[in-house]
This record gives sequence, C-alpha cells and structure tokens, in this order.
Amino acid sequence: MSEAGSESGMDTHTIDNRLKEKKIPAQMRAVVYRGVNDLRLETVPVPEIGPGELLVKISTCGVCGTDLKKISTGSHSAPRIFGHEMAGTIVQVGEGVDRFKTGQRVMVFHHIPCGQCYYCRKQTPAQCAVYKKVGATAGFEPSGGGFSEYIRVMDWIVAMGGVVPIPDGIPFEQAAFMEPVNTCLKGVKHLNLTPDETVLVIGQGPIGILLAALAHRTGARILTSDLYSERHTVAAKFGLRNPIFAAEEDVVARMRAETEGRGADAVILAVGASPLIQTAMAATRPGGRVMLFAQTQHGEATFDPGAVCMDEKSLLGSYSASAAIQPEVEKLVFGGYRSGFDLTQLISHRFPLEAAVEAIAVASHPQANSMKVMIEAVPGSGRADGAGVE
Ligand SMILES: [Zn+2]
Ligand SMILES: [Zn+2]
Repeated sequence: MSEAGSESGMDTHTIDNRLKEKKIPAQMRAVVYRGVNDLRLETVPVPEIGPGELLVKISTCGVCGTDLKKISTGSHSAPRIFGHEMAGTIVQVGEGVDRFKTGQRVMVFHHIPCGQCYYCRKQTPAQCAVYKKVGATAGFEPSGGGFSEYIRVMDWIVAMGGVVPIPDGIPFEQAAFMEPVNTCLKGVKHLNLTPDETVLVIGQGPIGILLAALAHRTGARILTSDLYSERHTVAAKFGLRNPIFAAEEDVVARMRAETEGRGADAVILAVGASPLIQTAMAATRPGGRVMLFAQTQHGEATFDPGAVCMDEKSLLGSYSASAAIQPEVEKLVFGGYRSGFDLTQLISHRFPLEAAVEAIAVASHPQANSMKVMIEAVPGSGRADGAGVE
C-alpha cells in the first residue's frame, strides 16, 4: 500500500529499534473472540512489525456499539481481537518510518480510506475498498486489536494519517474518543444544519450525547430524548438543556409543541431499535430529514413511504469516519479538552483486560448509569492524572 521502508536499510534507526525491542515482551494478554458471545482472556504473541509499521502499547480502548454487535451476532469469523477506539504509546518503529518515534503518545485509526477511488471521490469514504480493510491488529484476522496490550499498525495506516500524535496534557482517554467524534461529526455535517433549525436526538448514550453536542455547535436548537434521567444529567454537562423524558412524555407531541406544530427540522436516531424509525419520521416536519446513525445491521424495517414521497421527508444515513474532516476533529478533541468538550465525562466504567467479559456485558446491557465503557490494558493510565503511566 505504501512505498515506505524499501532499501534504505540498516541505519542507526534500525539498530536503535533492535535495542528498544528488548523491552518488548514476547507474549501478552489479549481478549480473544472465540465465537458468538464467547470472549476469553488469552496469552498470545506480541505482534511482529514489518517495514513502514508501528508497534503501539495500548493504554486504553473504548467499547463501541459495533464491537458489541460483532460479538453478539457472529457477523465476523473467529478468532479475532476486537477494539478500535484506542490510544497508547509507540514502542517500536518499523524500517522506513521517519515521522514517528518510540515514546510518542498516539491514537490509532483501524482503517483509513484510499482517497482516490470512486467512492472516495464521491465523499463516501466508508464505502472505499481500502477503508474496509482493517490495518490494526493484535493477532489473528486484523480487527482493531485494542482489547490487548500491543497492536501492530500496518504501513498504509501509518503512511496515510491513521496515527495521530496526542499533545502533552491530553489524557489517552480523551484521545480514544477521536474516532467516535469523527463518525458523529461526519453524520452531523451530512444534515447541513442551520442556526434557525430545531433538532431532536433520540437516545442519549455516549454516541447520542456526542451527536447532540456536535449538532449544538452549529447553533441549532437541540432537544434530546432518552428513557433515563441519569443520561440527561450527563448530557447537560455538554450544554444539552432541553431533555425529553421519553419514559413519561410523548416525544412526537413534544416536538410538535416546540415547533408551532411542524415537527423537528432534523431528527438523529442514535438507538438501534428499528421501530423508532417510525417515531423519528413522525417527529420530523414535512420536508425535514431523519438520520439513521445506529442501524448497523441489515434487515427490514417499517416506515411510511408517503412520508418520504408526499411529505418530502428525507431518510439519510451516516457510518464510520472521514479523513477529510480529521483536522477539525483534532481541534475539537484536543483543543476542546479544557473548554467544554471534556469527553472523559462520558465514561462511566473502566475495566482491566482481566474483566473484559464483564466490561462487554455492562456495555451490552446499558443501565441508567452506564455510558462509555473503557477497557484498560494499563489500568489507570488513560486518565488525566495517569497520563504516561507505564
Ligand atoms: Zn467505533
Ligand atoms: Zn477509496
């Protein structure tokens, strides 16, 4: 994929790497997916890296809804090591890589688009064939690898901007939100919101809150709905102060009441339950748009075709990240850490690798008080006060 690391050869760089290698163990712990709902803590080899690649020691890794889907549905073959919302420290640099050095703190994207194919040119990078190839692994079929101690980052990820240095003073945990923030900002941008618009975000898990917080930054008025009041409390920390308590309130009636009877200009559905597509469409004004953000499984769902045709409501979707908006995302995640965008406030649970099964169970069965769940290869190292802990 990249020309990195050809004949330049045995320079001091390589020798330096060999010396550093001594600190790297031969084996590590990893959470291995062995089949549907079957995760096991195993000892596996630390991945070897080749030219153009990096070895990163994982500090912390967020549990994503798509990991849960893969684990519970068996959509991917076993064995694999999942986890992709990860941040850590470079411990080994492959031949030919000169933009990175050992000891550097980084977050890693597990896939990156080619930027040149038909889908990339049409601004749909998540459909790019290169993007669909996973380029970070802790062993077995590359699947992210963040639920382990070390990952190998492949050459095209390193060469094409998939490794992002973390500035001093920014905890690993904040950086681990880079990929989810990118995916959410991509979705929000797709809605082309304007400051005179009213937006409803259904679902206030960590992703729903991120979507609502990013939509809020466009100047639009945001209403958020969730069954749990505890989540509205977390959302309020991000300036989201128009909660709808969906357990006791009719979401559609409330949206109409808030918009002179029209309905929301845009609705973002951040819950995977497909019956809510009907609710989202009903809560949208004629000519408005509905964004599906959590429908990550193919299947069938019911909606009113007349709402799309006669009422001119648009049904949109957005999936995964975009390299094109990454500079803006870095500004938000790094620059925003001390100015109202402290994403670590979304974390409700931190588990060591040994408790990964419990971590996945908590994330799979969200309770009122559960938000983002982190799996920490080095417990405590992800937090502000633990930054850089080895
Ligand atoms: Zn994710
Ligand atoms: Zn492409």
